[in-house]
Amino acid sequence: MKTITRDYITNVLAKENPPCARIRAGEIVAFETYDCFTNQFLPEEATFETVIRKPGNPATGPLCIEGAMPGDMLKIDILDIEMGPVGIVMLGPGSGSEKEEFPQKILRRVLVKGGYAYFNERVKIPVKPMIGVIGVAPAGEGVSTITPMDHGGNMDCTQIKKGASLYLPVFVEGALLSMGDFHAVMGDGEVEDCGLEIEGRATVRVSVVRNKNCVSYPMIETEDKLITLASREQVEEAWRAATRQMYEFMKEKMGMDYEEAGMLLTMTGDLVICQTVNPMKTVRMELPRHITQSYGFDSISVE
Ligand code: CA
Ligand code: CA
Repeated sequence: MKTITRDYITNVLAKENPPCARIRAGEIVAFETYDCFTNQFLPEEATFETVIRKPGNPATGPLCIEGAMPGDMLKIDILDIEMGPVGIVMLGPGSGSEKEEFPQKILRRVLVKGGYAYFNERVKIPVKPMIGVIGVAPAGEGVSTITPMDHGGNMDCTQIKKGASLYLPVFVEGALLSMGDFHAVMGDGEVEDCGLEIEGRATVRVSVVRNKNCVSYPMIETEDKLITLASREQVEEAWRAATRQMYEFMKEKMGMDYEEAGMLLTMTGDLVICQTVNPMKTVRMELPRHITQSYGFDSISVE
């Protein structure tokens, strides 16, 4: 199994970035990642005064997947997410729902051990590791790892977790996959601008899907949900787009009657805000897979 080390990081996902490794479709590969602060705040003595922050949110990569062509989708099966021993949660005036309350940047280092994050003497939080930034090279100009769009990027979606399969549209030959910005745990919405930021290592199987189910936006399959993801400047635009994408998927890929699709969505579809703090806001629409299976549709990767 190849390992992509932290010798290869970028903060722009771009087709000009030279690949640091190549694999054949279907191979398993590991990505080692820094936390979103490039690990600079891990030493106890590091403060906002002493650390000159490098450009943040580094992603490890890009990985070239041989044979991936524009119009295909990558299927990224997340087999495992390992984490470092310390996570960092930060508050500050730059971004967040209550940012006015935090005129000074503050951070706390949180021990992560045995499946829990030890926040204080009272609270230990069960970890739910997730990948905050994961994306391919977009078709046009490069996009900062701060910004999510249809190529993926900084989507900060809690469902990008172990056991899930993320689907990303391919825009350039080889796809050029990168990832970083893991969170040991994060609330949906990410209301104050970060999760429990942590370094880590993800083991993934990367396949190429080339069938009629391919779409031009990210999707996720979990054990029990099919999910569309949309990132737009405003949350309302994002929720409308995520819902529209699911409607069209149900109609065009599953052959559902449009009225039944609407009824099923309003009865069973969960609209969830992934994050409210990045330059584009991300919202997802979740549909139970037992409904798609009732229509004979099991997986995007199966024709
Ligand atoms: Ca993020
Ligand atoms: Ca983060």
